[in-house]
Amino acid sequence: MIDGKTQLIGLLGSPVAHSLSPAIHNTAFDLMGLNYRYLNFDVDESHLKTAVDGLKTLGARGWNLTMPDKTAMAALCDELSPAAKIIGAVNTVVNDDGRLIGHITDGAGFTAMLTDAGVVFQSQKVIICGAGGAARAVAIQLALDGAKTVVIFNRTLAKAQKLADTINVQTGGNAEAYALSDEKAFKEQLAEATLLINGTKLGMAPDTDSCVMTDASLLRPELTVADFVYHPLETKLLKTAKARGCRTLDGIGMLIWQGALAFKFWTGKDMPVADVRKRVFA
Ligand code: NAP
Repeated sequence: MIDGKTQLIGLLGSPVAHSLSPAIHNTAFDLMGLNYRYLNFDVDESHLKTAVDGLKTLGARGWNLTMPDKTAMAALCDELSPAAKIIGAVNTVVNDDGRLIGHITDGAGFTAMLTDAGVVFQSQKVIICGAGGAARAVAIQLALDGAKTVVIFNRTLAKAQKLADTINVQTGGNAEAYALSDEKAFKEQLAEATLLINGTKLGMAPDTDSCVMTDASLLRPELTVADFVYHPLETKLLKTAKARGCRTLDGIGMLIWQGALAFKFWTGKDMPVADVRKRVFA
């Protein structure tokens, strides 16, 4: 029930009507009996500062940012997490009595999901396909959290190289870059890796037959295979990996876990991830 003490959380971006975040957070608030409500606000970049000033004045506990507001929000924060500083973008803000702390939870949510699932990536070689916004956040966080080598394969090699340079210079981690079309390098690197991640759009509807790799025999049962794509929930890559005996992690897990981290920043509580998933995505 909304009452005089209900705390406000928001999502700023444009468009936002399609977002699953209100369902995830409001379900978690209900399950835990927490007096918060999460609402979407369609705010483009040109109105971001006005909206943020308003939320501060109204005492909102925090908010999420989606495109196109993530980069502009970073400049409006008083403090940034290490990953948000490196990436120069923010998807979660905590309002501590008017002091705005900016985080990016895409990467840290992903590594929290791995830890929750018992997947050890520390001191391991991990492969991530993609160098777009989401892959960038995850690759940087994997390096910050102790992966031995982050190997990036991307259609546009220059973008993979730029990401690898950022990791090598700014995280103290180790990264290498290859073109996604380099099948020889892919085979060699995958043979030494324990985790394969698809961070590209390949496999996403309507192109559900597309996949980052063609040779299924490269998938060993010891590999964990994760996909960012959640529409469909089981991509061609995950279906193939499952059939080869690999452990698989789907994109809904990543989506909920990045929210779970924001939830913890705002409420101090752990989101009941499995129950939220059951309720929202059954
Ligand atoms: P983005 O910034 O637009 O990056 C897209 C990535 O996909 C780039 O690496 C791009 O390569 C690659 N790509 C696109 N079309 C391709 C093709 N035909 N062949 C090979 N590579 C291709 O997008 P994003 O925001 O990072 O999102 C990437 C995917 O992750 C999307 O499917 C998105 O829905 C999903 N996602 C999921 C979550 C979650 O919580 N589960 C969160 C964020 C994103 P180039 O650099 O060569 O263009």
